[in-house]
Amino acid sequence: MAVRAGRQLLAIPGPTNIPDEVLQAMHRPAVDIYAGPLIALTDSLLQDLVKLFATAGRSYIYIANGHGAWEAALTNVLSKGDKVLVLESGMFALSWGDAAKRLGVDVEVLAGDWRHAVRPEQVEARLRLDAGATIKAILAVQIDTSTGVLTDIKAIGEAIKTVGHDALFMVDTVASLACVPFAMDAWGVDVAMAGSQKGLMTPPGLGFVAAGERARAPHQRADLRTPYWDWSVRDGESHYQKYAGTPPEQLLFALRQALDMLFDEGLDNVFLRHQLLAEAVRRAVSIWQKGKKIDFNVADAAQRSNTVTTVLLGEGFDPRLLHDYCNFKCGVALGRGLGKLNGRAFRIAHMGHINAPMILGTLGVIEMALRALDIPHGGGGVEAAIEWLTDSVKA
Ligand SMILES: *Cc1c(COP(=O)(O)O)cnc(C)c1O
Repeated sequence: MAVRAGRQLLAIPGPTNIPDEVLQAMHRPAVDIYAGPLIALTDSLLQDLVKLFATAGRSYIYIANGHGAWEAALTNVLSKGDKVLVLESGMFALSWGDAAKRLGVDVEVLAGDWRHAVRPEQVEARLRLDAGATIKAILAVQIDTSTGVLTDIKAIGEAIKTVGHDALFMVDTVASLACVPFAMDAWGVDVAMAGSQKGLMTPPGLGFVAAGERARAPHQRADLRTPYWDWSVRDGESHYQKYAGTPPEQLLFALRQALDMLFDEGLDNVFLRHQLLAEAVRRAVSIWQKGKKIDFNVADAAQRSNTVTTVLLGEGFDPRLLHDYCNFKCGVALGRGLGKLNGRAFRIAHMGHINAPMILGTLGVIEMALRALDIPHGGGGVEAAIEWLTDSVKA
């Protein structure tokens, strides 16, 4: 027997649930790419993106996923043989570093243990050893979706400033933008990137990069620039150049709708909604933890992200069975363990277009699976989540 008919809930950390309004916004014929309305749409999106990143710099929209936006960020400011320091927070930080390596960049990884956020004092110590300023850029991920860890980007920015090192600070906000606060200029970030399909509730296919003032000079020198990613081409006057070709019209309509929804709700409310729903998930996991077979991947509670929770499953229990039960019996798709957490963890995304019934439903289904599969756990995780939400959301 299965009880999965009805709407499937995506609790994978991307792509996330797309609002019906966003889907419907795409259901339009293509329009003239040389006429006013589309040009005005592009202008409004570029302006709203710099607002989201919180920078006085410029933003760029690529027809690409996050991997494309990574490449866009790297190629616009680096040259072959430049050295970058990757701050390891999980698989996504390492993958961004791998992309740099394949482009011919010299990559050094500041090792992390996948259970903690990047430590600012460790970054500071490493930069102090770089007296010759050989490190040209520092790559960090605000929320590493594999580990579920939130790194304090502001604190890392301060550490860089304390040393007085002038490497560019480049940050991946794919799993955090429009879910938790981000303040590019105020935190000393020079280049930031994101994608459409996570907190921004839009179908996959758009990659975003924001470039601050300090990224301009390295951009002039960068020899990794290529025609498609190049900011200088996209800074040109013609609308066609903004996309280095035909604009992805329907995705732009979708993004416009999604941004309107986020701004209507108010970003502070969006952040608070994420925090409350993430905490509901954590309350449930804390109860399940009592059976000693379930644990948070992120050791320090203050470093657990508000967009994804990575849950470790004890030896002898196969997370695939849990995934299959949730998905095929109940219609909830959970995230899998990535990299070295493959086969040892499951992930609960709480990112983007989510509300209390979606989260409580997801938690309820996981609790069903824990029971059905005889995975020892403290009972009443969902109740703990309900209690937290009731305390937080007053009548
Ligand atoms: C999803 C994700 C990416 C990669 O995005 P794709 O669109 O899959 O290429 C990069 N960084 C983080 C933090 C992510 O969560």
